[in-house]
Formats: sequence, C-alpha cells, structure tokens
Amino acid sequence: MEEEPLKREEVIISQAEIDRQLAICDALRERMAALPGRHLAFVDTYGCQQNEADSEQLRGMLVRAGYGLTEEEDEADVIVINTCAVREHAEMRVLGNVGALTHTKRKKPNQLICLCGCAMQEPHMAEKIKKSFRHVDMVFGPHALYRFPELLQEALVQKRRIFETPDVAGYIAEGLPVARKGKLKAWVSIMYGCNNFCTYCVVPYVRGRERSRDPERILREVRELAESGCKDITLLGQNVNSYGKDLGLNMDFSDLLEQVNAIPGDFQIHFISSHPKDASQKLFETMARCEKVAPQLHLPFQSGSSRVLKAMNRRYDREMYLDEIRRLRALIPDIVLTSDVIVGFPGETQEEFEETVSLIEEVRFDALFTFIYSPREGTVAAKLPDPMSKEQKSRNFQRLLDVQNRISAEKHAAYVGKTLRVLVDGRDAQREGGLTARTEGGRLVHLDGDEALIGTWQQVNILRASTWVLFGELL
Ligand code: SAM
Ligand code: SF4
Repeated sequence: MEEEPLKREEVIISQAEIDRQLAICDALRERMAALPGRHLAFVDTYGCQQNEADSEQLRGMLVRAGYGLTEEEDEADVIVINTCAVREHAEMRVLGNVGALTHTKRKKPNQLICLCGCAMQEPHMAEKIKKSFRHVDMVFGPHALYRFPELLQEALVQKRRIFETPDVAGYIAEGLPVARKGKLKAWVSIMYGCNNFCTYCVVPYVRGRERSRDPERILREVRELAESGCKDITLLGQNVNSYGKDLGLNMDFSDLLEQVNAIPGDFQIHFISSHPKDASQKLFETMARCEKVAPQLHLPFQSGSSRVLKAMNRRYDREMYLDEIRRLRALIPDIVLTSDVIVGFPGETQEEFEETVSLIEEVRFDALFTFIYSPREGTVAAKLPDPMSKEQKSRNFQRLLDVQNRISAEKHAAYVGKTLRVLVDGRDAQREGGLTARTEGGRLVHLDGDEALIGTWQQVNILRASTWVLFGELL
C-alpha cells in the first residue's frame, strides 16, 4: 500500500519556530560567556549517513550555543550520542558505551549526557534508559532534533531529566546551523522518512513518513557548497528515487539530479539510497547524461529469491532487479555497483540463500554491505517463524563474504594498468607521506604525493590492487 502524502503545511516547521530555537542558542552562548573556562561538546554518531548529517546539525546548534567541539568524552561538558536502531547489534553497542559513561560523569558531575536518534524513538529503548541508565540526562527522537536548543536550555537551567520522543509523522526543519567536518565532501538531505515498510525494517517507525525538501532549498545549499569549494556532494534519503512525490510540483528525482548537475563547479554528485522498485529508465538515462553524476550506484537488492523479496515487501523480483542492472550497464558500462543484502530473513531456505549467492555471481557487485537478519520489535517479520539455526545463518553469511571478497578482488585487479581520475581527499593515516583518494566510482586509492594536492582532481596510474584498496602513482 502507498501512503497518502503528508500535508506540507503540517510538515514544514515555521521560520518563527526556527528563529526561536536560534535565539535560545544565542542566549545560551551569552550565559556561557559569563562563566569561566571553555565549554566543550562531543557528538558521537552510530549508523547511516542520515545520522551523520543529523549530527552535523547537532554540532551546528552546539557551536552556535557557544560550545567548542571535542572528540574526547572526558573533557566534554555535553555528550550527545546519536543512535541507530536498524540492527540489535547497533543498539547493544550504544548501551555498552552509554553504560561506560558513568565513569566520565563521576569525574565531571555536571556533564550533560544526551541520547538521540532512531533507537531513542523506540519505546522499549527510551524506557530502558529511563529506568536503568540514571546518569543519562536527556533522550530525544529524530522528530525533536530541531528543538535541541530548547531541550538543552531546559536541562541546563531546570536541571531535570528530559524525555522527548513524540510519535508523529515527521517534520522538515530548514535553516538550522550545520557544522561540517571538512570542506571537501558534504551530505545534503533531500528527503526524510520512508513509506516502504519493508517487513524487516524499523526505519519507517522511527523516522516517520516520506517528506521531500523544497527543491529550491536543496539547490541553494548545493550552490553554496560548490561556491565554497566542495568537491563531492551526496544527496541523501532513505529512498531518493521517490523524491518529489509529496511536493505536487511535477518533479521527480531525475529532474532534481539534472538541476543539481547544472550548478556550476567542479564537484561530483553521489546519491544514496535507491530502491529498485523506483529506479526508473529515466533515472539511468539522466545518470548517463549528467557529467557531474558519479558513475556509481548503490542499489540494495536484499535477496536473490523472488519469494523472499515478496515476504520482505520489496515490490520487485529477482528478474526485475537483474533487468535493471542490464539496462543500467547498457548505458554506463563501467558503472561501479554496490548493494545491501540480508542473510537469514525468517523462513529463508537454503535453496533461497543459494539464489542470493547466484545473483551476486551474476551481477558481480564491486562491493556489498552484508547483514545477518536482526529481528526488530514492531515489524512484521519479527513475528514470522524463523526455523534456520543461528549457526547455519553464520555459515551462509561467511560464504557470502567469501564469494563477494573474491569478486571484489577480481574487479580491483582489473584496474591495474589503467589511468583513472581521482579526487585526493586526505592523508593516509597508516603511511608517512601517503595520500588517500577516491576514483569517480568511489574506489579507495592509496598514493604518494604532496599534501597540497588534497582537494584536487588528479590522474593516477593504478600499479596494484588488493580486495579493498587500489595503489597508484600520480601521472
Ligand atoms: N533505505 C535503504 C534501502 O532500502 O536501501 C536502506 C536503509 S537501512 C538503514 C540499510 C540496510 O540495513 C538495508 O538496506 C538492509 O540491508 C539493512 N537492514 C535493515 N533492517 C535490517 C534488519 N532488521 N536486519 C538486518 N539488516 C537490516
Ligand atoms: Fe527500511 Fe525499506 Fe525504507 Fe529502506 S526502503 S528504510 S529498508 S523500509
């Protein structure tokens, strides 16, 4: 079932409300300036790029409120942990790390510990924090992110515990400050939430319904980034291919891509994630035509079995997926393809797992993100019978990794001897004098060169390759 689009007037947070939050930041800044010493904040992020983008807004609000940023928990006056709910493992890691913060708080009793993000929007997690993690001062969900300044002020002034996880369809808050880590690369959210309700996935429950940002806002943000020297822009959404359905502007994701491509500058465009059910021929043709769009696509397939895909509510089957890949490769033969796959969905048989392996062999992805199915409370799949043993799922998972690692290594080996255009993006932490770079398709390259090259496009000869890295020399 397709969800009804949300009403825009109920979705957009008013400018007056954003101004109110910014005024609170300014008041906090003044209050802090009157106190001795530097005030520091640490924002830690789990999960996907959407969470990374949210953390950049949290940092932006903290900086506006007068905090300096640190990576050290011990010295932070405010700690914000932005959590992920997609798999149980991510939640367990958060709980472990939050538990360990009792020590830092003992040393620094006024330290404010805040938890936010998707896991906090799950009622059982918020409840657990309330009861068992008394050192946590604040919990807020993704829908309350724009109100962080107000919540911070309440916690600091009234010194009470705050739990703010409204169960709503979601908002769009424009004009919040953003503190990006570097100048070279940027994430730009183009939409929020998800309407797809894949039966294994908690995202639609914690991030709300699909809502698209106004194209003018997106284009303005990209224009500003390009003017400030940004070289790599990733458009973000849970399913970017359904961008615009709620706008009533007769504009889809391909149209947006075309308009972003027309912005002057020597930047490259990526986007994530695409859903195969909405990846149209028009999108593929737009990608092929637009010179700034990277020759790369992340197209999660999740399973190679049509029966499992139906049980997952993915709304495409194996043949449709393979057909899309064929059509895309006909237009962009050297496209770099990556994907997500789940092993051990409830009821997946050994034969159905073999279909996943055969799809991987047939497509030959450049890289894969492989996950063992993790039951998520409240989802449809969590109630399905799940007879396959954990040991068998682990064996299948390992087999998938082995197959993919072989394919990744073979694909990388084929780059040896080629000359590629790369964006030099940083120092190689492992090697003195070494640099890291990315090919247009997003493959990691290690090379030697002057630090002054960081932020420039270069031609590189590929000398050798491993499963994960290409090694090159500057031309
Ligand atoms: N919206 C994106 C899409 O549909 O491609 C994906 C978002 S999700 C954060 C990233 C990946 O996590 C999914 O593609 C899926 O492979 C995996 N995932 C989601 N729920 C999962 C679960 N319950 N167990 C294991 N993996 C899961
Ligand atoms: Fe989750 Fe499916 Fe939405 Fe992706 S498309 S966020 S997997 S429900």
